[in-house]
Amino acid sequence: MESCPLCETKFETENVWTNRVRFSDTYTDMGKKYIDINPLFYEIWVCPGCLYAAYRKEGFLNIQGIIKSNFKKGLEMRKKISRTIDWNASRSFEMGVLSFKLAILCLQERSGVSAARYGSYFLKLAWLFRFKEMKDEEQTYLKLAMARFMEAYSKETSPEVGSMGETGLVYTIGELARRTGDTKTACEYYMKVITNKEMQGDPQYIRLSRDMLSFAKEGSPVEFIK
Ligand SMILES: [Zn+2]
Repeated sequence: MESCPLCETKFETENVWTNRVRFSDTYTDMGKKYIDINPLFYEIWVCPGCLYAAYRKEGFLNIQGIIKSNFKKGLEMRKKISRTIDWNASRSFEMGVLSFKLAILCLQERSGVSAARYGSYFLKLAWLFRFKEMKDEEQTYLKLAMARFMEAYSKETSPEVGSMGETGLVYTIGELARRTGDTKTACEYYMKVITNKEMQGDPQYIRLSRDMLSFAKEGSPVEFIK
């Protein structure tokens, strides 16, 4: 049993992060092509009482930046998104999508949230729609993710980028540009990773940026990391 840190409602969560999750490929924007179970359906915990939603345990229990009285006032809005979903039920694709939409709404209730965090939630929504081959919705959320990552890169001194670091952030912007048809911007961002020696982060993104730059110039449609 888990307990909501905002309203104390008790609820169960599904843990699929054992050996049940398998993937066949990694997309060039780091999304995974899952077989059978898609763990994105379960990543966001949702309190069935107050519809507070956030990323698994660590994110969910951290309510820093949320003012409880303001949060209560947002319930009507959250109910509109959640519709008649029973959050105690087993997760479906629809619930996966709505859980991320609720989590994004809940980010707006927090102060001091990096645009990169919005970006990563939008990107995961895009991946969910990709899983269902819903191309228009995927494109919509790739563009929203790109805008937030660009904002984080240009305006924040230490954007919340986690383990991918600055190289990962800039490479991802390039990838999202390429996947939404803006090759010129894609090449600009790959070049930033390749030429800026000061950039911190996982060195795999430098290699990927070199590869993707040549693919983008040739116009080859690359889906997966080789
Ligand atoms: Zn709650």
